Amino acid sequence: MDRSHAGQQRADAATVDTDQLAHEMTERFRQVLSTRRMNELTSRAVQSRPASPAPRDFGTPQPPTAQHAPPSYSSLRNIPLEPQAPQDARSMRFKNMLHSLSNMPIRWENPGLLDEALRVVPLEQIYNEAEEESQILQAEAESLGAGKKAAWGYQDCVVRALMRWFKRSFFSWVNNPPCARCYSPTIGVGMAAPLPDEQARGANQVELYKCSLEQCGAFERYPRYNDAFVLLQTRRGRCGEWANCFSMLCRAVGSRVRWVWNSEDHVWTEVYSVHRKRWVHVDVCEESWDKPMLYTKGWGKKLAYCIAFSVDGAMDVTRRYVRDPAKHGLERNRTPEAVLLYIMNEIRAMRRTNMSKQDKFRLQGEDMREDKELCGYFISSIAHEMSKLSADDIVAGRVARRPDPDAQKALEGRTSGNSQWIRSRGEGGQNTPGQQDPRNQHPR
Ligand SMILES: [Zn+2]
Repeated sequence: MDRSHAGQQRADAATVDTDQLAHEMTERFRQVLSTRRMNELTSRAVQSRPASPAPRDFGTPQPPTAQHAPPSYSSLRNIPLEPQAPQDARSMRFKNMLHSLSNMPIRWENPGLLDEALRVVPLEQIYNEAEEESQILQAEAESLGAGKKAAWGYQDCVVRALMRWFKRSFFSWVNNPPCARCYSPTIGVGMAAPLPDEQARGANQVELYKCSLEQCGAFERYPRYNDAFVLLQTRRGRCGEWANCFSMLCRAVGSRVRWVWNSEDHVWTEVYSVHRKRWVHVDVCEESWDKPMLYTKGWGKKLAYCIAFSVDGAMDVTRRYVRDPAKHGLERNRTPEAVLLYIMNEIRAMRRTNMSKQDKFRLQGEDMREDKELCGYFISSIAHEMSKLSADDIVAGRVARRPDPDAQKALEGRTSGNSQWIRSRGEGGQNTPGQQDPRNQHPR
């Protein structure tokens, strides 16, 4: 909690009134958010917060052989499919895993805890920053001519400010936790059984590290907490913990939020922009806003599945992140595409069981619009490839490539995690080419 600045202001008699006003505004925001959440939740009859389930199979690396097989992308190619129920054991396993993953956003739906969560957030600072940014965007739009719309709306700016604060002042990244006794680096020595206290707070897995200093030799435990509200206290982790805690806070400030699971080794957030009427990619580990090509063009990764889960739906959003399946796709071999479609429908139907007809209809419309948006990415990717061929080259029989502006935009390497860890994952961007070796993949 960074209240020191506010505290200093309070000492200054001249600013007492504005400070008081800001405080009252913040309290009123809390009240409004709280009331809205209560209304939403009571009308939806959501069950009370369940205990943290085991994070089983949060992305088992694919067998390496799969990477060399020719990819099959019938779903990415926009061929209409008839949903088909899973039949074989492999499909059943995938279905169970997706159902289990889909519970993540449900665990945030606890109005009392969401209110409590906001107590650690410097709301005054965040709302001020958001106000300022949205005014700048508004002014920029107006300078471009009458009727021009600001790039982002106020609520988008709230999430952007929340993201900056979360990354810069709240959460920290953990590879190997440093020794608590002497602060020396530690070496991973495997897994340990959780202690009763760790288990009570929802950690089912505990990584064990040993101090690298011989005369110290102390052990350091790193429990993988899976509960967003516990993470408000521990305030550290890898992308799993970051995305979990941050997504919950997006929910707490009143945004619709998705938790996006990637089958390789990453998770991130999407928030719904009411202003733009679409879902926006947010990766808090990287302080990335609306850069869906970060993973493929930026980090040079190949991805098979990116599935988004929210409190009222589920969507295969791979096409948002993999624009060129031939180049950045991995084989989607966990189940036939028609079965994946069936599973998505099944999860959606489950989440919407208790909703009114109108709400179901509205969400269906939203799903259809998004499907259209995702198809559009595929079509524009083909058009883009075509445009890179120059007429002279076609005539001369040469297939030369022009520089790709999207690739330039996304050419930032990964910033979370230390450089060795980044290189081992091959995520350093263009300057540090590396191998995507499944053996080097960290648990999230
Ligand atoms: Zn030590």
